[in-house]
Amino acid sequence: MDDKPNPKTSSESSERLFSFGVIADIQYADLEDGYNFHGNRRRYYRHSLVHLQGAIDDWNTQSSTLSCVLQLGDIIDGYNAQHKASETSLELVMNTFQKLKVPVHHTWGNHEFYNFSRDYLTNSKLNTKFLEDQIAHHPETRPSENYYAYHFVPFPKFRFILLDGYDLSVLGVDQSSPKYQQCMKILKEHNPNMELNSPQGLSEPHYVQFNGGFSQEQLNWLNEVLTFSDTNQEKVVIVSHLPIYPESSDSVCLAWNYRDALAVIWSHECVVCFFAGHTHDGGYSEDPFGVHHVNLEGVIETAPDSQAFGTVHVYPDKMMLEGRGRVPDRIMNYKREKALHF
Ligand SMILES: [Zn+2]
Repeated sequence: MDDKPNPKTSSESSERLFSFGVIADIQYADLEDGYNFHGNRRRYYRHSLVHLQGAIDDWNTQSSTLSCVLQLGDIIDGYNAQHKASETSLELVMNTFQKLKVPVHHTWGNHEFYNFSRDYLTNSKLNTKFLEDQIAHHPETRPSENYYAYHFVPFPKFRFILLDGYDLSVLGVDQSSPKYQQCMKILKEHNPNMELNSPQGLSEPHYVQFNGGFSQEQLNWLNEVLTFSDTNQEKVVIVSHLPIYPESSDSVCLAWNYRDALAVIWSHECVVCFFAGHTHDGGYSEDPFGVHHVNLEGVIETAPDSQAFGTVHVYPDKMMLEGRGRVPDRIMNYKREKALHF
């Protein structure tokens, strides 16, 4: 700090404000390598833990500027459930995360629900809602208990929002519950296939069982938080297991009602970046409203001689994704009117 210029010149756009880590689809299991559903992508079930360890070692060397890590969901593979290894595998991965020197925010994906019920997850270490920010005198910005979502402030004027893409889902909910019935109805209305995980013949191929959606209640809450952020001239980063922008994803992996989520986001100024996992192949697109949609490459389909994680460096006028291994570098400028003026 000794050579810090006076506040006027420190408003230079080249000054880094803070950084955060991103990693997706670790899908650890104590299994021999396998292949994805289509048989064209190798899955390194055991090695995913080594990849995670490598990412944590790297982040720990940057811990003076790193504020947190975002884990984008599917932390262990669904196969664990069949081998009655869900809890031991989760423990192994969480013990690895324990070595991280900064807080980690955990998102929930479909593989979480193949292994655990929503109630179990709520009471597990994968629930990081205790890291949330509560805005005094604005009860409308507090999420309800009906979904797993919250917001936090890693750096002044930057608000991160973690969304629950399986708020509407047939996964993880009791089959006798009204919510299950409601979600099964939505799914079947869009997907007449016997196998509900199959997108075959669908005009909207993302209506499959391994995806989910956002309830109106969650979207209303998101709208309230974004309204607060607009008013307070904050920049917002959104995190979700499921992507919502078709140009950044394949057509199957999107959230059921991704259009509803986009409509909320596009009605506000503040959102600059949307991070998702789930697709494994990765993807990127800037939408017409200047929101950068990043689908992170999945750890599980990353060869042992490569890597798949990133560190995002945040500046007053842009975010720079520093990718490792098969995650490419990206410069994500805020739209002109979105740049911060300190
Ligand atoms: Zn997934």
